[in-house]
Amino acid sequence: TGEGTTVNGGSKSGRTGGATSEKAVGPHGTAKPVRSTDQPKPRIIKNDPWYDSYASRADAMKSSEIRALFSVASRPDVVSLAGGMPYLERMPFDRLSELIAKMMRDEGDKAWQYGSAQGDPHLREDVLQIMELEGIKDVQADDVVISNGSQNALDLITRIMCDPGDVVIAEAPNYVGALGVFRSFQVQVANAETDEDGLIPESFEETIKSQRAAGRKVKFLYTVPNFHNPAGVTMSVERRPRILEIARKYHVLVVEDNPYGLLGFDGQTYPALKSMDSQNVVYLSSFSKIIAPGMRIAWIVAPAGIRQKLILANEASILCPPNMSQMTITTYLDNFDWKAQISDYRGMYKERCNAMDAALKEYLPYCSWNKPKGGFYIWLRIPDGLNSKEMLPRAITAKVAYVAGTGFYLNGEGTHHMRLSFCYPTPERIHEGIRRLAGVMDAERET
Ligand code: PMP
Repeated sequence: TGEGTTVNGGSKSGRTGGATSEKAVGPHGTAKPVRSTDQPKPRIIKNDPWYDSYASRADAMKSSEIRALFSVASRPDVVSLAGGMPYLERMPFDRLSELIAKMMRDEGDKAWQYGSAQGDPHLREDVLQIMELEGIKDVQADDVVISNGSQNALDLITRIMCDPGDVVIAEAPNYVGALGVFRSFQVQVANAETDEDGLIPESFEETIKSQRAAGRKVKFLYTVPNFHNPAGVTMSVERRPRILEIARKYHVLVVEDNPYGLLGFDGQTYPALKSMDSQNVVYLSSFSKIIAPGMRIAWIVAPAGIRQKLILANEASILCPPNMSQMTITTYLDNFDWKAQISDYRGMYKERCNAMDAALKEYLPYCSWNKPKGGFYIWLRIPDGLNSKEMLPRAITAKVAYVAGTGFYLNGEGTHHMRLSFCYPTPERIHEGIRRLAGVMDAERET
């Protein structure tokens, strides 16, 4: 069965959700191990002497379409609309390096030492003021667990909640890194439908019911409510309590992944799901998009029982998050006006989003998209007859890179979409990139 790790969403096919393969589910709807002996295992290198030794979970791992693009997209002659890298050149690096040098002189023995598996108490205290901006107020530093980026947080939560064959309900298209985690734990993903207001509550409920009716264990809803990667949409404020009500009714945990929440272009924030229901939501946020992805620092707020398991899982997989990174972040937060910095970034990303929107209107009027209100991405619908995955090599030849929509599904869907990131290139480069992309698409349409 290999990659057959998406299961039927169980509802009418919608704008972005969709029914998919049933391959990883046994005849009575019970999960069976994802590896099947009648299918060849994927080969990563030729003549690998360990080919027969890998665990079945390693069979399910595959390189993300984004990572595969990384080397070509970073060539200076290519306009990359592919990666989700924040633009860091506006960071106050000179002053920051002086403060980090001082921190090393004063507290180097702590920075280079092992630390707590739950994370540095100083940083756990600092993140409380960030969460307040999205209405999360009754949380203490002790409720917070630090992780090596949200990616690691997704790994930890899946590790403690899911056995092979269990189901996670998720929006489709889906964050590619989360799909990678779910795949590596042999978890099945059931897609619930979304529209321009985010996850559709009725589809969420239908999906829970149909998965349960088929005898599968639904472990959690994975949602990116704000400025979704890759769909660009935000869950409407009206839908949020409704989603939580359904989650409570069926006792399904909600994992709220929120790295972009402070990047609303007009400074608007939305109440976190966590702020409306502290007992059924695991909240993840990250410093990656607002400050420094290279530090690999994110945080999790979870109900007490889950939090204890997360700390144990952190201990088992990394012992403790790196003190050096955590102390670098606290040095930044304590000495700079980080709110002003984020507001500066918001303005910059807004300008870049506008530049992309205008260039799309100018060069690709036959495509469709929703203009996002924040975040990094536009999810572009391309005309029938074009295939974003097949077209990619020709786009690279024309020196523009994007991520084909297929990377955001487990089942080969997504050929009519592509993700365009406006976070990193300047408005001029974005304009040029869309012009090149239109050249490729125009030529494809003529053939
Ligand atoms: N979740 C989402 C929705 C993301 O877009 C990303 C980064 N692209 C992550 C999680 C992972 O972020 P981090 O750098 O904190 O691991």
